[in-house]
Amino acid sequence: MADTVSQIVLASGNRHKYQEFCRLLANARIELLFGGDFKHPIEVDETGSTYEENALLKAAAWAQATNRCALSDDSGVEVEALGWAPGIHSARAAPGSDEDRVRWLLDRLGGRKAPSERAARYVACLVLAWPDGTHRSWEGVCDGHIAHAPSGANGFGYDPIFVPQGYSMTFGELSQEEKDRISHRAVASRGVVDFLNGR
Ligand code: IMP
Repeated sequence: MADTVSQIVLASGNRHKYQEFCRLLANARIELLFGGDFKHPIEVDETGSTYEENALLKAAAWAQATNRCALSDDSGVEVEALGWAPGIHSARAAPGSDEDRVRWLLDRLGGRKAPSERAARYVACLVLAWPDGTHRSWEGVCDGHIAHAPSGANGFGYDPIFVPQGYSMTFGELSQEEKDRISHRAVASRGVVDFLNGR
């Protein structure tokens, strides 16, 4: 499979996601095509119960529709004190904007003071799917904790309150280069790059 891949379509019409994957897959010997450049938008219901199931639903639909190898991701934030919620429901954990969801999460951790009581992790699953129905998947995890208040304007989603392990700043404050080194998507992407480069 890998030795026949020269182009991969990103199973998303989100240009920020495309730019992020262009950086993360820069060392792979493939051309990454932007899903948004394909004629018909491909809507996929994320009805799976795991990151991998949801990522596979997206990648398989795009592979079928474009007749090319497709790459998708599904990700979320997991908080130990909440029984590792919101997980696959992170994007819709609370109605409204990213800021509303950040506030929702901070409210839920209200009385917990120490970083150990606020332990969290980002998880991402990347899937490559081929038009013949085959697929491969990789998972990446970034451990950390939830800060007491939002800070920093970089990134998106829960980044203003996510402090990766070994750091004292949130992903909202860290540079894009630093996030690209240690994030859950970066970890999973290294597996994809190794696979595509035949290592
Ligand atoms: P999806 O993988 O596009 O379905 O979205 C997953 C959701 O998890 C996002 O909308 C964010 O709420 C959250 N999330 C996943 N990765 C990140 C990240 O790197 N930074 C901030 N939030 C993230």
